[in-house]
Amino acid sequence: MSEQSRFFIELAERWQRRWREARVFEPEPSPGTPKFFITAAYPYPNGAIHIGHGRTYLIADVLARFYRHLGRRVLYPMGFHYTGTPILTIAEVIAAGDKTVIEEYMEIYDVPGEEIKKMGDPLYLARYFHLQSKRAMEVFGLSIDWTREFTTIDPEYQRFIQWQFEKLRKKGLVVRGRHPVGWCPKHQMPVGAHDTKDDKEPDIGQWTLIYFADGEGFVYPAATLRPETVPGVTNLWINPEAEYVMAEVDGRRMVLSRDGAYRLSFQTSVKIIREVKGGEFVGRRVQNPVTGDWVEIYAARFVDPKVGTGVVMSVPAHAPYDYAALRDLGVERLIPLIRVEGYGDYPAKEVVERMGIKSQDDPALEDATKEVYSAEYSRGVMREDVADLVARHLPEPARSMVRAVFKMYFAGRPVKEAREFISKWLVESGLGGVMYDIMNKPVYCRCGTEIVVKVLEDQWFLNYGDPKWKEAARRLIEEMNIVPSDAKAQFFATVDWLDKRACARTRGLGTPLSWSPGWVVESLSDSTIYMAYYTVIKKIRQFGLKPEHLTEEFWDFVFLGVGDVGEVAKKTGVQPEALKAIREEFEYWYPLDSRNSGKDLIPNHLTFFIFNHVAIFPGDKWPRQIVANGWVLREGEKMSKSKRNVLPLDKAVAMYGPDPLRATLAVAAEVEQDLDFRDAEARRNAQHLAAIYSLVQKIAQSAEDRAATWVDRWLLAEVANALERAKEAYEKVRVRQATVEVLFNLKSVFDQYLSMVDKPSTLAKEAAKAWVVAMEPLVPHLAEELWAMLGGNGFAATAPWPALKPDPAALLAKRYVDMLIEDVKKIPAYGPAAKKISIYVNRNFAWVKAALGGDVRAAVQAGVPPQAAKRLVDMVKTLGDEMRTLIAAADKFDELEALNTYKTYLEKTLGVPLEIYDADDQAAPDLGGKKRAALPLKPGIYIHV
Ligand SMILES: [Zn+2]
Repeated sequence: MSEQSRFFIELAERWQRRWREARVFEPEPSPGTPKFFITAAYPYPNGAIHIGHGRTYLIADVLARFYRHLGRRVLYPMGFHYTGTPILTIAEVIAAGDKTVIEEYMEIYDVPGEEIKKMGDPLYLARYFHLQSKRAMEVFGLSIDWTREFTTIDPEYQRFIQWQFEKLRKKGLVVRGRHPVGWCPKHQMPVGAHDTKDDKEPDIGQWTLIYFADGEGFVYPAATLRPETVPGVTNLWINPEAEYVMAEVDGRRMVLSRDGAYRLSFQTSVKIIREVKGGEFVGRRVQNPVTGDWVEIYAARFVDPKVGTGVVMSVPAHAPYDYAALRDLGVERLIPLIRVEGYGDYPAKEVVERMGIKSQDDPALEDATKEVYSAEYSRGVMREDVADLVARHLPEPARSMVRAVFKMYFAGRPVKEAREFISKWLVESGLGGVMYDIMNKPVYCRCGTEIVVKVLEDQWFLNYGDPKWKEAARRLIEEMNIVPSDAKAQFFATVDWLDKRACARTRGLGTPLSWSPGWVVESLSDSTIYMAYYTVIKKIRQFGLKPEHLTEEFWDFVFLGVGDVGEVAKKTGVQPEALKAIREEFEYWYPLDSRNSGKDLIPNHLTFFIFNHVAIFPGDKWPRQIVANGWVLREGEKMSKSKRNVLPLDKAVAMYGPDPLRATLAVAAEVEQDLDFRDAEARRNAQHLAAIYSLVQKIAQSAEDRAATWVDRWLLAEVANALERAKEAYEKVRVRQATVEVLFNLKSVFDQYLSMVDKPSTLAKEAAKAWVVAMEPLVPHLAEELWAMLGGNGFAATAPWPALKPDPAALLAKRYVDMLIEDVKKIPAYGPAAKKISIYVNRNFAWVKAALGGDVRAAVQAGVPPQAAKRLVDMVKTLGDEMRTLIAAADKFDELEALNTYKTYLEKTLGVPLEIYDADDQAAPDLGGKKRAALPLKPGIYIHV
């Protein structure tokens, strides 16, 4: 720990203690006072929280602290998510003595040897990291109300979740049935994003299987995402080197890759008959079930036995891989199927030739495939004559009947529709089937086993596929504020594709389903509306309510206002006063004003949060805002346990001190961007904050009570402006922008001020106090220290946002002086030989205002002398936007007075003594005609050499 970080840590400890003693962050409801209720996703205590969590919690804390200054009651609570498998799996792995995980935990989280031994017990492990993470949040300076802390296995919480699930079930949103889920074969359970390594959400997709049959009754199930191209198949592909099997699949004898058979066995019955090398099938002939054509099986290296069934159909006219592979074999047979604007009959051939692709091993085939697939999918139409390709093997009238169906639903239809039709038709006529697969494979369970897709028969699901439910979710997304705003599209897309989702498991910590013994609500399902629980748990404890009091009637009354308080009191055994007080808390704090989390939670947790709120609560209790922040990288690399570069939050606080760490996480990237955390930058920021400390100390110690000069007024005016911009940035959750404005731009302004005055004035002290309030959300401990130093009342944390009057004349004076300096520097006579400068000031500021309109005649009519009007109008036109705005806003401005106050500054900057004259002063000499030439804001300048 460096000297500097020790300074910041000691300072922080002092203020954290005082906040705690004064209960600054433990708000009570105050009807009539506006409130701000913000939450950030509670962590799983299966490891210590790191600076990535720290960033999310910091953004929430900055908003919480900012809104306190605006006079809102602010509630920022925190809990711990013990539910489900994330904790259980780690405990199991440690109990099994897994060396890698044990080493990771000892090295990254500094877990002592005697502790790690006890972590085979999931509760012990959770408790350990719960306490460590809580401690990290405290030393980091988060303004959390800890009186509402809970874990998700508390009996009160379980009663709350049971109530939620009863509500959902009664609305028909919890259903039981058959559905594909991501599945860990070792754990024998469904897995979602929070059970996988790197929190990867398994993407479940669907292959259409098309049954090509050989003469001996074996079926070769070609797996495809483009079943509409089956009439154009010229051959099948099999990887000659890979392991295949002959197997009985759902009553049919099939040939497929061994890996495909393994994955399919989780979805239907699979009995292996014989294991065979793929090469054995090369050269066999099989019949296309749609056209009746007999085609040959060719060998292809590009067939991946781990994808689909390892049997692939070849459509060279529309698939670049197929075209290139056949060309390698010297075969060119093309059957055109799809018309698409901008391409000829054989888009695959065209693109392969245009890209100069040499062989089937060319990596450019990926891009070629993407181009053709997406063009055909979005704009392609099936050719009319494809119907003639169909059913050539069938006798009449069967052939005509099949062709009639294809003419109606397939030929001439957009590719999208044709695809939908043929995949249904294949299944219904027994010529094909469906296979689910992980499309973003490999995805691994935390235990290290690769995830497959299992079709579950009697699983409990939340039916996110329900169209009415989706509609309500979309309405909320429409209404709410989402930061960044372009994440809205991602929410809409997630709502579109979400379907049934397994909501209960048979293992892990959590809440049992009340109506179905043996099932426990899983972790992404018991974390969707718990923000409401924060509002009531404090009073539930204060009134000494027991879990058995927390019945359905209790929650209905507290959260939904259902029932008469006397009746509910009788039924639940809870005092009416208690019921009313608890209901009042919920009514005061809800709806939630902001939900903060990392962007990785958009496709799961945050969308479930939206769905469940609209299902349970009335519209006026729907959340108002979501903030989803980017990742945190460390020295340019993704943090991961295996790289040992995860930086736990408590360790980072000890390395840099909480405020330098906060400043770094706030300024290194805007909220939605990924943030690259760099050690050197954190150290620089620590020095910068130390410099702010010395600067404010100097003002506090040396400020003198004197009449305010233009310079003092300028400082206050700059602070007023910066605070306006910072306020807007905070309100829009532009945390980086607010930090730049407050910690960096204002620091330069204060530096310049101190360089211009001999001693700061008491007005500068006022300016510094305003500055300290504006920086408090970012660096709260430093702010408290400076606030006390400046003689502020109470805590900086609760000080009102400063109301500073804008002072355009003061800003104008400073800009005017800087403009004058630039003008002098441009004069050739200004140089080492310059001995003195005479300045002639034209004090008719009203003329400049009259010239702002840019019209010479109007200026003359307003009183500008005709001989000066044209020059003045031209001069005003050259001024920047800021100057023109300031001129318009300033009522009075006395140039002479301004120059006299800034005289020392001017002489110091220019290095030459100055003589300042009023141009109207009859006694002043007219050196070089400069007296006559002086215009307001453009003084005459004469340089003595
Ligand atoms: Zn597993």
